[in-house]
Amino acid sequence: SNVMVQYEEDKMKKGGGGSGAENVKVVVRCRPMNRQETADGNSRVVEMDVPRGVVEVRSSKSLPTDPPKIFTFDAVYDWNSKQDELYDETFRPLIDSVLRGFNGTIFAYGQTGTGKTYTMEGIASDPEQRGVIPNAFNHIFSHIARSSNQQFLIRASYLEIYQEEIRDLLVKDSKKYLELKERPDTGVYVKDLQQFVCKSITEIQHVMHVGNQNRAVGATNMNQHSSRSHAIFIVTVESSELGQDGAQHVKAGKMNLVDLAGSERQAKTGSSGERLKEATKINLSLSALGNVISALVDGKSSHIPYRDSKLTRLLQDSLGGNSKTIMVANIGPSSFNCDETLVTLRYASRAKKIHNKPKINQDPKDAILREYQDDIARLKSQLSQKLVKKKKKRKGHAPGVDSDGGGTESEEELAEDEVDLEQQKQQLEQQRQHILNDQHMIEEEKQRLLSSVTDKERELNTKVAEHQQLEAQVVLLESRLLCGGKNIIDHTNEQQRELEQQRGKLADQKRREREMLQRLEKEEDNTCEIASTFTSLQQEVEAKTHKLKKMFARLQAVKQEIVDLQDEFISDRTDMQQTQEDLTKELKLKTLIIENFIPPDEKKKIISRAYFDEDEECWKLRELMRGNGSNGGSNSSVLKRPVSSSSRRPVSEYAKTQAALHHNPRFKGENIMLLDLDPPARTTRDWEGPEVAPQVAAALQAALTPIGDEVISIDASFGSLKSVRGARVAGARPKRNRRPVSSQRPPSHQPDVLPYYPKSRGLVPK
Ligand code: ADP
Ligand code: MG
Repeated sequence: SNVMVQYEEDKMKKGGGGSGAENVKVVVRCRPMNRQETADGNSRVVEMDVPRGVVEVRSSKSLPTDPPKIFTFDAVYDWNSKQDELYDETFRPLIDSVLRGFNGTIFAYGQTGTGKTYTMEGIASDPEQRGVIPNAFNHIFSHIARSSNQQFLIRASYLEIYQEEIRDLLVKDSKKYLELKERPDTGVYVKDLQQFVCKSITEIQHVMHVGNQNRAVGATNMNQHSSRSHAIFIVTVESSELGQDGAQHVKAGKMNLVDLAGSERQAKTGSSGERLKEATKINLSLSALGNVISALVDGKSSHIPYRDSKLTRLLQDSLGGNSKTIMVANIGPSSFNCDETLVTLRYASRAKKIHNKPKINQDPKDAILREYQDDIARLKSQLSQKLVKKKKKRKGHAPGVDSDGGGTESEEELAEDEVDLEQQKQQLEQQRQHILNDQHMIEEEKQRLLSSVTDKERELNTKVAEHQQLEAQVVLLESRLLCGGKNIIDHTNEQQRELEQQRGKLADQKRREREMLQRLEKEEDNTCEIASTFTSLQQEVEAKTHKLKKMFARLQAVKQEIVDLQDEFISDRTDMQQTQEDLTKELKLKTLIIENFIPPDEKKKIISRAYFDEDEECWKLRELMRGNGSNGGSNSSVLKRPVSSSSRRPVSEYAKTQAALHHNPRFKGENIMLLDLDPPARTTRDWEGPEVAPQVAAALQAALTPIGDEVISIDASFGSLKSVRGARVAGARPKRNRRPVSSQRPPSHQPDVLPYYPKSRGLVPK
């Protein structure tokens, strides 16, 4: 795609005056009406003029005479647009740039259900409906397949930001949240984020698939989760090429593919405490993104609030920095979403005005490709050095063995080396045979020689193993570096390549036409026709009336726009006020608790310990300092225990001897409990019941004998209906029953021998 490259560079020269500045490219895509919307009788309020890049929205609230709201973008795609079309026209040039060492970012912005995920991922199984991400995979790997004299290294990461927490989607069951860190040379990065080296298109597709699975797993409600979280797929493309100076030059392009959270307002219902925190966090990143865009476009603000959210910090370069950026604003066509659609379009037209300063990342410090190349070179030199040493050795000790000239290529040397080791092995075997067959040698001598041979053999074996290990390492590293035509099976033929070029040219043509049209319109509006000559006064009047009408309509539209913006602003402000009020309430409560329930001294201590953690962006309490002033902890709150020279605590000589001699805990410094098992002195078998005086026993017996035939029995087993009834029956005849006692046994079974102690009074079932 040389044409496009040329075109891009031309444009850059024109646009940025050599500085390479360019604007964020904004395209709008409207999805088709869905079945639900048609069934509900919603009308379409969006009109799109694709060749001119214009969207018109006729608000459902406005009068039919009101002019529609008009927005112009770099490109617009209506409900008939195909994924391929978007890719060829809009995204392909960006991915081409990434392959040449630029950073690139694609944002999908819009209300939930308008096609953000459809645009970014699409339906992977259907080639026609594949989104940007899979199409970019194809693009990247076919580019590599066609390249020559270049080495590539492709890495992929996938992360998600949900409620201001970053989660690695490529780690299974990742409960751990990742931190953002900053380095002065390479900027903001996510600490411990997994990067997978992808050697083929299937591998990178697998990476995406795994990430998507993990995203779904973490969510209790997938729909809600995906509409409230940002997913970022990151592809890093590093390439190296032999420069004219004879050295390898590395270029690195990083591509962020961002599926943003739904832009709709989050309802903050009954929020307090944790709920409130949650509600304010959900769209924090998105509103911070809006603030960053506003600040960038404003031109007056010197401070851009990148640090307000994780998303804006991570994608700082994409907005106003070193990156080529495209924003896709997704909208729905129906009257039902009219307000949201307008909000999205306004947001998007603001983003159009952001200037970026993309540049090719030449020889970056953190290039992994360079590391790999260095590693390979080092390992290879290790391998060849061994060979050289051996050769020298051989020349000194065994001049008989002929050594061939030896290639200068290290690979040849490696091969030779292997042959060489094999030869040595055979020689040893021969020696052994020779020794065994030698009849003249004494047995001891034989054994000695044999063992020395075995030792040598062992040594040789370990050498071979080492060698193989090194070689395997080289092979592994080399397999990760991709070269044109070799590693990639996906070999597109020349025809297809031409076809792609044709499509690219066509897309380019379309783009240029649109730009031309837009420029023309702008100029037409601006030039004053007064300068032109008119043949008659009448003609002049007509022309000027026409112009006036046009201008008046424009004025009306702008006035309406102001009103709309004010409305939007007011609703935004009430929303923020609401949040602020809630937060103030929360703060007042906390202050109340502090004032009334925390002693002033404690409060002071806590305040002196509190500090703001820049990395995690929250307040933390410093550890209570241990140790005395000399240790650096001048404001120590915990005193340190004095140390003894010999043991943990000061112990006198006397105490030591006593402790050694006796078990008296009095002299033990620690572990004063005696933990030896103490067997019980008596067992239950020895136990004998108490003696009961015969008189008492007789009295008891008399008391337990029922009078008359009244037998009351109570079943105490829990919940037994029978027993309840029995109890009631017993209770029902209280008059006759003077002494309501129960007996364990009927009177006839009275024991002859009195028990030593009273048996339990039987609560026995009937
Ligand atoms: P979002 O990610 O913005 O919430 P989705 O991408 O999930 O929205 O899209 C919602 C539905 O609309 C999906 O079923 C998707 O297939 C469909 N859809 C979105 N855009 C298009 C389009 N341009 N053409 C056809 N179907 C679309
Ligand atoms: Mg989605």
